[in-house]
Amino acid sequence: MQIIQARGLIKEFPYQGDAVHALRGVDLTVARGEHVAVVGPSGCGKSTLLNVLAGIEPPTRGSVELLGEAVYALDEGRRSALRLRKVGFIFQRFHLLAVLTAAENVELPMAEAGVPRGERRQRARELLEYVGLGHRVTHRPPHLSGGEQQRVAIARALANRPEIVFADEPTGELDRRTGDEIITLFERLNADGTTLVIVTHDPHVAQRAGRRVEMADGLVVRDGGPEAGPASHPPHPA
Ligand code: ADP
Ligand code: MG
Repeated sequence: MQIIQARGLIKEFPYQGDAVHALRGVDLTVARGEHVAVVGPSGCGKSTLLNVLAGIEPPTRGSVELLGEAVYALDEGRRSALRLRKVGFIFQRFHLLAVLTAAENVELPMAEAGVPRGERRQRARELLEYVGLGHRVTHRPPHLSGGEQQRVAIARALANRPEIVFADEPTGELDRRTGDEIITLFERLNADGTTLVIVTHDPHVAQRAGRRVEMADGLVVRDGGPEAGPASHPPHPA
């Protein structure tokens, strides 16, 4: 089954009476279980594509089916419910709440989804253990390293057991070694069944993905294996 089916995506941002063409006609299909890296020069539309695919930002034209739902045909309430329950999103700068502990940050999306408090607490602890932070449950983000903060953000993205996780330059703020550890964690997540779409500048991150989608100037210009082969990708196992 396709987890993402995007067709004819065009995104224009109004700018000083003119328009910036961030996406100029993107088609993209992602199968369940894939680990996709989206690469390309700064400004080519990677973040815009990710936000459009994740149901965050409606395209100017074109359609996105996410888990079989036409995302932008849903009203805002149903679209945010789909995002809350089925989609995880990880940002370059972590976006954690500084006043909450690691566990409380992870609990937030569960609280929003109505998970009872006891269950929330237990799952937050389990998720923090999964990302290697079992010993940092009560720490607040300002007292955590960048790599630790990104692990908390990953645990938070997993809170409601999403089927797909999007990440926008998740290692962009981290040194090489810490970034590699985060990618190892993503690989484990993918092996455990979560579909991943990761935007990255980092060739090491892209190399470790099963499929590499290369963008330039608002278009997908190459779509292939990790070594950037021809403009098609191998059939994905079921
Ligand atoms: P990337 O993530 O590949 O660096 P982006 O998707 O952020 O690229 O941006 C693609 C293009 O769209 C850039 O030219 C950028 O300046 C423009 N852009 C992105 N977001 C906005 C916005 N909210 N308003 C106006 N222009 C935007
Ligand atoms: Mg970007």
